[in-house]
Amino acid sequence: MTIIDKFLSENDYTHPRGRKLVEKRAVILHWVGRAGQGALAVWDYFEHECAGKTYASAHYCIDLSGAVYRFIPDDDVAYHCGSSQIDPKSKKIYTDWAREVFGKYAEDPERNSSNNAAIGIEMCALDTTEGNFTAETLQAAAELTASLCKTYQIPIERVGTHKLVVGWKDCPRLWTLYPGKFEDFKREVSGLLNG
Ligand SMILES: [Zn+2]
Repeated sequence: MTIIDKFLSENDYTHPRGRKLVEKRAVILHWVGRAGQGALAVWDYFEHECAGKTYASAHYCIDLSGAVYRFIPDDDVAYHCGSSQIDPKSKKIYTDWAREVFGKYAEDPERNSSNNAAIGIEMCALDTTEGNFTAETLQAAAELTASLCKTYQIPIERVGTHKLVVGWKDCPRLWTLYPGKFEDFKREVSGLLNG
């Protein structure tokens, strides 16, 4: 796996200047909700459409080809899994899973946020009906996740989806529709960690 560094310009909305992750507690996976959109188009979207307007970014984006782009250095904050909306299950902001994994970073959305302690990975998708990934994207995502888990000593139990953190967001769609496929993904990551 080769990582291609293509950092977003420092900007309050995408790559906040001087804001560092306080801890690295979890790896959170997302999908790019536009059919067939590649990683460089996602970079353009963050860099040109979100900057100055919309809080959105992620540390990594995996292309349909399996190429891994790093948009934000691992030590900096990216905006990908914060929440200010109620999780339908726990009736609180953030899910029970998020509270367990993030602790104080998932308690007070006004002052703190899970973005202070999470590394975010976007995955490009082939379609929006189910949000299918290419085999290359899935393979690279597993390798990247395993490498981050190893580097930062993040256990597999702290590899999650955006949906697992906030409850209300259908992200990644494929793993919301078919939770078993996310379990398969985690098994793949575990295999890489133990192999
Ligand atoms: Zn997401």
